[in-house]
Amino acid sequence: MNTTRRQFLALAAGSAALATAGAPAQAARTKTSARIVIIGAGAAGTAIANRLSNNLDGARLTIIDARKRHLYQPGFTLIAAGLKSPAYSTSATSDWLPRDITWIEEAAAEIDPEAKAVTTAGGQRVDYDYLIVAPGLKLDWDAIEGFSLDRVGENGLGALYASPEHAAKTWAAMNAFTDKGGTALFTRPATEMKCAGAPLKYTFLTDDYMRRKGTRGTSKVIYAAHNKTLFSVPIVDEKAKLLFRDRDFETRHDHMLKAIDADRRIATFATPDGDTEIGYDFTNVIPPMRAPDAVRNSALPWADKWTDQGWVEVDKATLRHNRYPEVFAIGDVAGVPKGKTAASVKWQVPVAADQLIAQINGTETDAAYNGYTSCPLITRVGRAILIEFDYENNLTPSFPGVISPLEELWISWLMKEIALKPTYNAMLRGRA
Ligand SMILES: Cc1cc2nc3c(=O)[nH]c(=O)nc-3n(C[C@H](O)[C@H](O)[C@H](O)COP(=O)(O)OP(=O)(O)OC[C@H]3O[C@@H](n4cnc5c(N)ncnc54)[C@H](O)[C@@H]3O)c2cc1C
Repeated sequence: MNTTRRQFLALAAGSAALATAGAPAQAARTKTSARIVIIGAGAAGTAIANRLSNNLDGARLTIIDARKRHLYQPGFTLIAAGLKSPAYSTSATSDWLPRDITWIEEAAAEIDPEAKAVTTAGGQRVDYDYLIVAPGLKLDWDAIEGFSLDRVGENGLGALYASPEHAAKTWAAMNAFTDKGGTALFTRPATEMKCAGAPLKYTFLTDDYMRRKGTRGTSKVIYAAHNKTLFSVPIVDEKAKLLFRDRDFETRHDHMLKAIDADRRIATFATPDGDTEIGYDFTNVIPPMRAPDAVRNSALPWADKWTDQGWVEVDKATLRHNRYPEVFAIGDVAGVPKGKTAASVKWQVPVAADQLIAQINGTETDAAYNGYTSCPLITRVGRAILIEFDYENNLTPSFPGVISPLEELWISWLMKEIALKPTYNAMLRGRA
């Protein structure tokens, strides 16, 4: 057995330990009859529901979400690379929820933090003592003029963020494109976004397929970045720029996608010098991202930051709202300077749960989120760089000596392809 294989087995054993660690001692359960309402049953909402159910005795837990499917979104990139089917990312929301929770199968439409009430799309009023806001984010497809999700999979058009099915259609378009080659165009939005490494990953994967199929020599890869960087963490940005040079990608900086002409295969970008068009044979559209409307239209967002996006105004360490102390925000909707990955959710959930339980007990805790964010940056099929960092842009490697940060490694690929999903599932159960 070579060293890397041995290291991975050690890591897998570590992940298994992670999956069982943190199960609460029953004796430590806090007695309360508090009404705790959670908006959103995705990664963050489900994980905190289970954690609170495990740690509280008698709490009245309610979760509000219309979506019956749970989506494991880190799998979308693998689906769009032809390596997994849509079923890999799909399960039933009900399979993950604790037994003692009331699930209202509707969207939250209004949040009134003064009255401490949420109103659902069907008009039901739900009063709370504590509120956890975890509805993820809204993909604003309408902001891209001329773009329609109905066209994805045809004529070189991809949109892997939209759903597992759209990720599979994106693969169909990418597979057909890489057979022949041509111009591949990649973009990212100018807003905050979930998994900011995903646009880069898909650029690398498309390049890799062209190289394997022998069509790269006659093709072009263009990456249109929204500002002067490829990634917000300076040392990672440097590494990404080196890899781009190595793979011969053309970068166009300060380009913001504003329109797609799916028939003529032309993308229009706003730039500091005015609008410009780039023709493509294949593209993957990633739209601007914002807080869901129920949050944006409430009193919860920051008034002086991200005003076009609406992220919830929370303290970056405690995840407690700055103006409404009985409100917490976790996951993609939280207005904190880093995060927006499932890996961040894993570290945010125990902090928010501990802070809430201390508040119920009338005590204090020093549990704090340090901004941990992680992104296995795939650089080709079978290779990735495991990027982990915090609020201060420090690299925070979880496996020092086993996985070196900023190196393209097979073991980091395995983390994405094999180890991430069991760890995510353990997190959903409130155990990781
Ligand atoms: C293509 C892609 C690749 C990714 N790769 C990685 C990766 O490699 N590693 C990683 O760590 N992370 C990755 N992520 C990011 C990760 O999936 C998200 O950060 C994570 O799912 C955030 O969890 P969340 O609970 O905030 O949101 P979600 O998991 O999206 O859940 C939000 C839930 O809220 C519900 N909701 C929405 N609006 C309302 C409303 N008004 N009322 C009630 N409920 C509502 C939704 O139906 C949904 O169930 C990736 C994401 C994508 C799209």
